[in-house]
Amino acid sequence: MAFQTHQFPYGDDNYGLLLHCTDSNLTACIDAGDADATEAALAETGWQLSHIFITHHHGDHTAGLADLKQRHNAAVMGPIIDSPASALYDIRLGDGDHFDFAGRRVDVIATPGHTLDMLNFYIAAEDMVCTGDTLFVMGCGRIFEGDADMMWASLEKLLALPDQTIIYCSHEYTIANAAFARAVDPNNAALAARQEAITELRNSGLPTVPTRLDLEKATNPFLRVDNAAIRAHLGMEQASNAAVFAEIRKRKDNF
Ligand code: ZN
Ligand code: FE
Repeated sequence: MAFQTHQFPYGDDNYGLLLHCTDSNLTACIDAGDADATEAALAETGWQLSHIFITHHHGDHTAGLADLKQRHNAAVMGPIIDSPASALYDIRLGDGDHFDFAGRRVDVIATPGHTLDMLNFYIAAEDMVCTGDTLFVMGCGRIFEGDADMMWASLEKLLALPDQTIIYCSHEYTIANAAFARAVDPNNAALAARQEAITELRNSGLPTVPTRLDLEKATNPFLRVDNAAIRAHLGMEQASNAAVFAEIRKRKDNF
């Protein structure tokens, strides 16, 4: 049977995710930013935590790791690149690695840019990917440790996944992302319609996460750097995709 999922909010705008396999009774959480919120989600579902997948070292993704690991004796899969959190990782992973979770192959996609250690977890059998702070709904992560070329190369890896891939990301930034997307892609009808739809979701207190890759390709400006209208809007008709990406990222930082 397909995995069951349970997404829960914590902090200002973070989402945690539990993945549960009813056949094996194994449960993974994606990131460990808040031990109390994760415990509450486990109590609500009745699932026993067995694995923790860490996307990157930032505190809003790792602050609860020591507590959760110790309480549940969970196996921690995390980036091979050292960080203040990495002493707690049991299995260190890099780009192209894969491991088994509950009988599914989990492919590790390194997506540096936001941080150098960023990992995304792709489970083809479940048509899903966890993108951490790399790809957001209609947005992408701020570049803290890498550079724009690196971040664009990372997004290109996600663009290569199947269109129907469900994307779980770690923050609810969608209202602000949509406003910025409209500013650089003003004549995109799909984007305008989606901005209305996500505003209704948020007004009803509902999450905009997860999203789907085909929807992002149609509405996320950071994945649309080859789009003629966006390029014309920026006056960058002849520029490389990486240069257009860098310009859009810079504008978002100052939006
Ligand atoms: Zn982060
Ligand atoms: Fe974060």
